[in-house]
Amino acid sequence: MRVATGRASLSDGRMFSVVVEGYGIGRQRQAQRTFNLPFNQLQGMVQMVARQGWRILSVTPVESAENSNTPPGSVPAAAPATQPASEPVPAAPSAPPAAKPAVTHAPSHAAVPVNTYKPKDPFVGTVIENYSLVGEGAIGRVNHITFDLAGGEPQLQYLEGQSIGIIPEGTDANGKPHKLRLYSIASTRHGDNMAGHTVSLCVRQLQYEKDGETINGVCSTYLCDIEPGAKVKITGPVGKEMLLPDDEDANVIMLATGTGIAPMRTYLRRMFEPTERETNGWHFRGKAWLFMGAPKTPNLLYDADFELYQSAFPDNFRYTKAISREQENARGGRMYIQDRVLEHADEIFAMIENPKTHVYMCGLKGMEPGIDEAMSAAAAAKGLDWAELRPALKKAERWHVETY
Ligand code: NAP
Repeated sequence: MRVATGRASLSDGRMFSVVVEGYGIGRQRQAQRTFNLPFNQLQGMVQMVARQGWRILSVTPVESAENSNTPPGSVPAAAPATQPASEPVPAAPSAPPAAKPAVTHAPSHAAVPVNTYKPKDPFVGTVIENYSLVGEGAIGRVNHITFDLAGGEPQLQYLEGQSIGIIPEGTDANGKPHKLRLYSIASTRHGDNMAGHTVSLCVRQLQYEKDGETINGVCSTYLCDIEPGAKVKITGPVGKEMLLPDDEDANVIMLATGTGIAPMRTYLRRMFEPTERETNGWHFRGKAWLFMGAPKTPNLLYDADFELYQSAFPDNFRYTKAISREQENARGGRMYIQDRVLEHADEIFAMIENPKTHVYMCGLKGMEPGIDEAMSAAAAAKGLDWAELRPALKKAERWHVETY
């Protein structure tokens, strides 16, 4: 590791460029990422990297010209971009042209691509990679699967927060082709490799017991088992519920359980992943707060990335976990995200009072009543009525829910 901090002292306001290598679990590739940090954040970053079992390759002072206008945790303005700085705006094959007036702080729906590929004529993509997202001792299988969309006429383009359909190979019990299943997209519009023509999913293999037999979900098993090079029928994109606001000053509260993390990963990469920021030119300055629910620590999906973002952007990103089978709530029961919401009710409500704050919920349908209960209690403590507030937030397009 090369460390060159020069004359730095605690009162030194200079920025340092930290190159971090390696992340994730299992077969995830090694990746190098560069974050710019002020001196007083370096120690926290070093400790976090050591905890994750990663490596710091170098720490170098950032030139003062860049320094003066580079906020903490950001990538240097002069860093080479893998794509032009101007972000491609996807075509909108079936979106109405700016049908309604823009609602302040709400995501723009005008240029949202939908149904570029329909079930009768799907796009045939190629699997690029498929790796496990869970650690040893995790419950079940959850994989990250990436498809190449290159060569599509038109190209399937999508935005953060949308979903795609997958039509599994084979036929059902009646000999009919399988129907499509929808999955929330887990990559930003630029794809994990920034090439602009891939899409990734985060898929849990569905398994349940029936008459003493373990039944495996058709499409989720097909996807978890699929090999690189395989061809897959893809439809979509669909969905306008979970779009991220364009406003760089928005605040974003995210409530996710399990694979419901997929859209949240797209938002967080868009906000904090260095190569993504270089490419998208969208410099998020608001506050993002992720509440993530998982049964066990090895089931926390993309955990290492989120820890890294929190370390690099402590003023902009907060990460709160509810690990149901390892942590207890105040009543001695399983710790769910609604328990975490209750714990932080005051801060959450203070954020929600700001019209720039959006709340996103994705994952198990079962969490909705619990979140509502927690929000009702928190609202009541402030003399507010959640039954009135929630529809108002929904109407303002600041309350976004997608649960199955
Ligand atoms: P998982 O890894 O099993 O984690 C789910 C977590 O939520 C566990 O900690 C679980 O706790 C907890 N939980 C259970 N009941 C809850 C409740 N009533 N309130 C709050 N938390 C609760 O999750 P998963 O298997 O991936 O499931 C994710 C779900 O999200 C699936 O149903 C999937 O279909 C859905 N999903 C929806 C979308 C979408 O709508 N776009 C996208 C992706 C996923 P315990 O098990 O320990 O009780």
